[in-house]
Amino acid sequence: MQAELLVKMRAVTGEGPVWDEREQVLYWVDIPSKLIMRYHPHTGENQVRPMDKMVGAVALCRSGGLVAAMEGDICRVDFETGAAQTLYTVEDRADNRFNDAKCDPRGDFWAGTMSRVGKRGQGTLYRAFADGSGYEAIIPGVGVSNGMAWSPDERTFYYTDTVTREIWAYDYDGITGKIDNRRVAVRVAAGEGGPDGFTIDAEGMLWVAQWGGWRVCRYNPATGEKLVEIMLPAQCVSCCVFGGENLDELYITTATENFTAEQLEQQPLAGSLFRVKTHVRGLPSYRFAQ
Ligand code: ZN
Repeated sequence: MQAELLVKMRAVTGEGPVWDEREQVLYWVDIPSKLIMRYHPHTGENQVRPMDKMVGAVALCRSGGLVAAMEGDICRVDFETGAAQTLYTVEDRADNRFNDAKCDPRGDFWAGTMSRVGKRGQGTLYRAFADGSGYEAIIPGVGVSNGMAWSPDERTFYYTDTVTREIWAYDYDGITGKIDNRRVAVRVAAGEGGPDGFTIDAEGMLWVAQWGGWRVCRYNPATGEKLVEIMLPAQCVSCCVFGGENLDELYITTATENFTAEQLEQQPLAGSLFRVKTHVRGLPSYRFAQ
């Protein structure tokens, strides 16, 4: 499978792609550059919306618009105007920031933090309730909180702390939203990078962007077996999501974070947005219940 270049860009940390099946567009972010972007596949246009704060990730809302994890805040965002309304201030510390985030099947927003200065164990995965009743810590002591997905039957939650090179499975209770019974689902091989963002297909297989590993891999989380490997012309592959009319196109983001001048020169496409046509379909993203 060959990745097609869609938006040639020097994103510092291109991240958080989410496909909007209503608008048929892709939202994605560049975290340190404080950008939310909207890519239109039919025209090739990539709209850029500068924000006041770093945006770790965005998710779609049921009523339209976006919910975003911004530094230590969770906000409703109107992409058209850039207006942001804070729902919750979850962390108020200069040395942490929100990273990856997604909505769960119930419609709550799950967002994890990480150290901005490379400290281990300083991150937490939180759940912010869409009904306005607050937020709670789910998993403390995380290094770099990253990818999340729910199995097609909504009974299993997958999550990774990139620094462990492991993806964990938990039982997920669709009534309470609670998780339990952690076990290792996938262990990324040494030399193939760390698991960053990931998504799940209709067959329940995980598609994992591997930071530092030049690739996206498809794994069977029941066995840990690697099934497919897509190589990218960028070392830091950060996240992926299915999009397109049939949800059979994998959009892939990449980064240039902390690159040396030599790396920038050797990887002219790093930071760009890519796409690969797949033989399987993905699932639509869950929306925030607002
Ligand atoms: Zn990530």
